Amino acid sequence: MEKTYKLLIINLIILIPYISYSQNMMTKEQFVAQIAQKYDLYKENTLKHRRFKHADLQPLIEKLKADKQFNVSLLGKSIEGRNISLIKLGTGKTKVLFWSQMHGDEPTATMALFDIFNFFAKTGEFDDLKKDILSKVTLYFIPMLNPDGAEVYKRRNAYDIDLNRDALRLQSAEAVILKNIRDSLNPEFGFNLHDQSTFYTVGNSRTPATISFLAPAFDYEKNINEVRGNAMKLIAELTETIDKFMPRQVAKYYDDFEPRAFGDNIQKWGTSVVLIESGGYPNDTEKQYIRKINFITMMAGIYSIGNLSYQKYTFEQYNAIPFNERLLKSIIVRGLTLKNNKKDYKADIAYSYAEKPINNHSDFYYENVIDEIGDLSVFYGYQEINCEGMTGEEGKVYTKKFNSLEEVKKLNLNDLYKEGYTAVILEKAKINEDFTKLGINILLSNSPKTNTLDKSVEMNKNPSIVIRQGGKVRYVVINGFVYDVENKTGEIKNALIYR
Ligand SMILES: [Zn+2]
Repeated sequence: MEKTYKLLIINLIILIPYISYSQNMMTKEQFVAQIAQKYDLYKENTLKHRRFKHADLQPLIEKLKADKQFNVSLLGKSIEGRNISLIKLGTGKTKVLFWSQMHGDEPTATMALFDIFNFFAKTGEFDDLKKDILSKVTLYFIPMLNPDGAEVYKRRNAYDIDLNRDALRLQSAEAVILKNIRDSLNPEFGFNLHDQSTFYTVGNSRTPATISFLAPAFDYEKNINEVRGNAMKLIAELTETIDKFMPRQVAKYYDDFEPRAFGDNIQKWGTSVVLIESGGYPNDTEKQYIRKINFITMMAGIYSIGNLSYQKYTFEQYNAIPFNERLLKSIIVRGLTLKNNKKDYKADIAYSYAEKPINNHSDFYYENVIDEIGDLSVFYGYQEINCEGMTGEEGKVYTKKFNSLEEVKKLNLNDLYKEGYTAVILEKAKINEDFTKLGINILLSNSPKTNTLDKSVEMNKNPSIVIRQGGKVRYVVINGFVYDVENKTGEIKNALIYR
């Protein structure tokens, strides 16, 4: 009996440090791996795509008010009168300020911030670790600093001023809000959360820069003091963290000083600024995977700031991150033989897909134009089609006319493509949309624009192209989307309606 008792005590002595190690002192790697694996439990499911609005966030912010961990306060209103809220969490000495969507059409990190709130709100897991972190740091979040821009999914605010060029003149209500809260808190760290073009690459590789970082310069000489140095070290650590999820998909921005930008000035005012830019990732149009990477990155940042693990990293590691280049296109059709005045020439053709808003900016369709022609051997495509030895010609308009979209739906489009047709005429249908999910362009015959279809392969034009291999139609290009007629693969996400 006594022996069993002794054993129990010995066991406890062995176990106690283990228990406390596994909960409090879980390594950063273990913590990050676990929250990444369990991410779906935290993902805020009401935010499903990029074009959510200020109104979609308000019920989520209201919900946080019921949780006593969170302190929600009103910082002020946007130019058009939308509330801009501050969400505070934690009691620790080190203050960290996050602000997202200063540019209205850069929403990825905003979604991730609500995933972070859900992570902290969910009790019954990582409780000791959360308690530990929140005793070391106090987190302040401004989700969607530019709600007026987000309303119409544009970069600038209601004055059409770029908030990130208003840090000194402070003419916008939103800029004043950010400046005031920065000055009143004087936080040690700041996360400046943006989206960048999906066409950026990691150096001159073909890999998209899914995340790009910057520790902004605070002067033209690009000096490094302790404030900027800490941001560089933290970025070095976060780059290593992300690399485990998507190897070599992190780049960094050039650090030219921009005297009017918030990142640069906040660095100057004494807060270590980490700029995070969400770029592109293959087949992630709505950036939901990139959102998860944002969540992981910011959580790892919070952990690191609390536990000072960034201090082990070096400027050299930061400097080793490749710079952003812009070498990606949505699609490149390579090596196509074209004809001009009976003379053949060879060209690569690239499109960078462009979104046109619909339904009050809550959705979009594509209206694409050629954005590069010629030797595109230095560029890469998210999608690439090899057309060496193939010839391109203008798509034809089908001769039979139709009365309704229903009739067009019944057509076997593949048969039409094989005959070189890329457009049909609708005579009597009343259609309000400017696009169709059917894979063929539609001309409304009684309209003046019918004769203005782009015909030749030129910059900023959108011709339909029929591509032949050995005389037979192999591909059609409609609105910049390529369909493989022979293998019946590829997707014309939308064609256009010309009126
Ligand atoms: Zn931005």
